[in-house]
Amino acid sequence: MPTVFLGLGSNIGDRHMLLAEAVRMLHLTTGIHIQQSSTIYETDPVGYVEQDPFLNVVVKAQTELSAADLLRRTQEIENELGRTRDIRWGPRTLDIDILLYDHLYIQEGNLLVPHPRMCERAFVMVPLAEIAPDILIPLGKEEQVTAAEVLAHVEGKEGVQPWKPLPWENIPDT
Ligand code: ADP
Ligand code: MG
Repeated sequence: MPTVFLGLGSNIGDRHMLLAEAVRMLHLTTGIHIQQSSTIYETDPVGYVEQDPFLNVVVKAQTELSAADLLRRTQEIENELGRTRDIRWGPRTLDIDILLYDHLYIQEGNLLVPHPRMCERAFVMVPLAEIAPDILIPLGKEEQVTAAEVLAHVEGKEGVQPWKPLPWENIPDT
């Protein structure tokens, strides 16, 4: 069964509840099995900086869904948990990105995997390298690099601080 890594972020409202609820909804989805979560990190916004700090987390899952079906499901969860966003890279209730899908390099219309901006983002690379430092990130059809190698060169790591664990195995029903 394919292994995937998902990156979740939130900087509006009850950020912790939104992340915990999103992970719970993913885990309750037929064909998605969460296996591991990073620590939740609190992170300074990048891009549009006039906004509140984010909480970010990376989870590892196994899935029977195709990458396209997985994207549809993550977007459903974003919508269900009330994503609102007017400014690109601006405030958002919940963002779910497909970071990696096995070792595949996918370009299917709108869908790009690995997520095209993940290697520049400390808020992705710090939690990813926490749970999977040796995971290989395809950079094209031939080249690949480990998460730990990317992390060594990423800027802004000081803006990504451990916040709390995400005990996804016992998130209470709401
Ligand atoms: P960012 O991905 O930089 O956080 P957005 O969340 O606004 O920015 O993503 C914009 C669009 O990117 C989404 O509408 C989605 O259709 C598309 N997309 C392409 N590849 C991916 C991926 N791997 N994971 C999530 N969204 C993706
Ligand atoms: Mg996104």
